[in-house]
Amino acid sequence: MQIIAKCPKCFHKWLLEIDAADRRITCKKCNNLFKVPKLQEVSEAIKVVESASGTIYADQDGKIYG
Ligand SMILES: [Zn+2]
Repeated sequence: MQIIAKCPKCFHKWLLEIDAADRRITCKKCNNLFKVPKLQEVSEAIKVVESASGTIYADQDGKIYG
């Protein structure tokens, strides 16, 4: 499973492996350091993860989309 995290500075979307969650990554486009939300801490993430067929979209505020 993979996760899409959007850089809050340049809004580029990065496709990451799911183990990138709860880590800070550096945007390779603008060098902005931002946090990938920890999926387990987001209550709504559970059902999204269960219903998602593959990729999960998550923004820096911890909002998760299937
Ligand atoms: Zn960026």
